Amino acid sequence: MVQHLKNKTLMEEELSSLIIPMEKVAHVQLKNPLEHALLVLIKSGYTVIPVLDPSLKLHGMISHSLILDSILGVEQFEMERLSNQIVSDVMNTDVPVIKREDTFSRALNLSINHPFLCVVNDKNEFLGILTRRSILALVSRFLHS
Ligand code: AMP
Repeated sequence: MVQHLKNKTLMEEELSSLIIPMEKVAHVQLKNPLEHALLVLIKSGYTVIPVLDPSLKLHGMISHSLILDSILGVEQFEMERLSNQIVSDVMNTDVPVIKREDTFSRALNLSINHPFLCVVNDKNEFLGILTRRSILALVSRFLHS
């Protein structure tokens, strides 16, 4: 019963405190050349980052592997594609999104298949991210408290 109550409290936990705010999230713009996106990815040390438009709406995710795949020719890398192609040409638009007011339970379920979730508002404006790491850390705190 105590365990049940504990779990119920956990599943109703507010997501807001776990969100890494937009200002701290490395991201790129739709029209940035792939070269710029690769630089941001390498400098930030992340393998996948969000793609936004100038009004900060979320459009997709870009990764090292998507960029490398898009510049791969038949026998060698076609390096000129790094400046000829833009992020929107190669980004992944299938993005796991969550609203700030969604339940912890939904975040936990989505995080099974995604290392991070993008947090947006009703206008699809990007607010930040929720990482699997922070979700699991909260679960661990609950289980050990
Ligand atoms: P972590 O749990 O810190 O390893 O983060 C998981 C994933 O979330 C990373 O591989 C990145 O794709 C993304 N991520 C975490 N923090 C940031 C950040 N500050 N800016 C951009 N992406 C991030």
